[in-house]
Amino acid sequence: MTATVTAPMIRREIGNDGICVLTFDRPDSGANIFDAPTMRNLSDHLDTIEKDPSLRGVIVTSAKKSIFIAGADLKTLLKQAQTGELRAFIAEGQKVFNRLAALQVPTVAAIHGACAGGGYEITLACDYRVASNDPATKIGLPETTLGLVPAWGGATRLPRLLGADIAAEVILKGKLYGAEQALKLGLVDEVIAREQLLEAARKKLDGGKRKISAPKSGMTVVPPTTGGNAAPGRAYEIIRRSGDSSIDESLAMEVDAISELGATDATQNLIRNFFLAEKYRKGSSKIAPEKVAHAAVIGAGIMGSGIAQWLSSRGVSVILRDIDSEAIDRGLANIEKTYADAVKRGLLSVDKAQEGRARIVASTQPGMMRAVQIVIEAASEKLEIKKKIFLDLAAETPPKAILATNTSALPIDDLATTTGVPERVIGLHFFNPVSRMKLIEVVVGRQTSDETRDRAVAFRAADRKTAGGGARFSGFPG
Ligand code: NAD
Repeated sequence: MTATVTAPMIRREIGNDGICVLTFDRPDSGANIFDAPTMRNLSDHLDTIEKDPSLRGVIVTSAKKSIFIAGADLKTLLKQAQTGELRAFIAEGQKVFNRLAALQVPTVAAIHGACAGGGYEITLACDYRVASNDPATKIGLPETTLGLVPAWGGATRLPRLLGADIAAEVILKGKLYGAEQALKLGLVDEVIAREQLLEAARKKLDGGKRKISAPKSGMTVVPPTTGGNAAPGRAYEIIRRSGDSSIDESLAMEVDAISELGATDATQNLIRNFFLAEKYRKGSSKIAPEKVAHAAVIGAGIMGSGIAQWLSSRGVSVILRDIDSEAIDRGLANIEKTYADAVKRGLLSVDKAQEGRARIVASTQPGMMRAVQIVIEAASEKLEIKKKIFLDLAAETPPKAILATNTSALPIDDLATTTGVPERVIGLHFFNPVSRMKLIEVVVGRQTSDETRDRAVAFRAADRKTAGGGARFSGFPG
């Protein structure tokens, strides 16, 4: 191996007052993220800090304009999840953060800017957290929205700091909080103007090492029911057991959970979707947002009727097709029931429900679908049936219509090649019951065009179906 000399990711400065300031400042980048070199760099600094008896305290901070540390390097993380190397990377991070937590001297994180996922977990390994009151400061643990758990100590240290209920609220929802809200929840100890941040951090060190009391047992938050995404359930389990597990046991549960989740298609798709949504959000896509007004759904079974109902409730007119008129009747009854339930639960007015229901036209007859912008196929899970449907769809739909399949297991490419227009074919995988499940996985085939992919992602985001919220935050969880 050749050693390459690179600029450090983290600067270490020790003042006359004996306080060591570690400043994250990734070279040639507007953001700090945790990748293997950054973790190694932190580990090297800790080697020196641990051996220096003259030190009085350590401050962890960032030199970036609007980012503290945005979290783990998700690109590498996805690759590691695919190759099975994730466990080692996570375990190494835990080791380094444990060393920070075990320092004899008090430690404080001075947070300005986005502090998400692994970026917040390093602050949890410090004794104190002070944050700037700047709007750029956003703090949280969004891992579960990507099918992961906070595994650099987040799911272990947060319940010990704030109790299981608050930890569950923060980790299962995966939201990012502004400074004031973070203060209210206890995620930070103090909020102050940016110019006074380091000063306030220095003062905090006077408080000495902080004693974390044993975690309070008992939890009122109920286990999450989040169909396609197993991560909130895994995180919940770790938090629930915080009362009767040691820190080491809890950290081991984190590593197990993240490596097992990382190996699943659901998690890998959520991470891929996050990249697509980010790309779309940043406007690098050349596709202007498109309002979908006309759609078709093929198959009026459990999923097809659910998808038709969901689309129609959002103002989209829907052609619902099945080959079996009894299936159509059952599908329509299902749709009526979902609308009636929504009215009963006060989510929709009677008028809105009627308007929605009226947007669905059901039919057993094939025919041209002139104005349709997207077709979602949800017919029986048989390759030969679906191949024939996609062949017909290529002829029946306008040249730009997206041809999406809701298949759970069949290869998109097999369906795509039949059509002669594979660039328009994509997977949009809904979950049952569609009216309640927020998740849609976007499954890109080998020949799916970037345009189809971007339009499908935009369609999903515009209709508030998200990859578990992945489109809504700008950090990289760790
Ligand atoms: P379902 O059996 O309830 O419905 C399938 C419908 O397709 C039936 O009404 C059938 O008459 C109709 N159909 C068959 N051939 C057709 C054709 N040529 N043209 C039009 N309609 C036709 O099945 P489902 O559970 O709704 O699943 C549909 C698809 O969604 C499958 O690909 C499945 O893998 C996928 N999926 C299911 C779930 C779930 O939880 N059920 C979740 C995600 C995805």
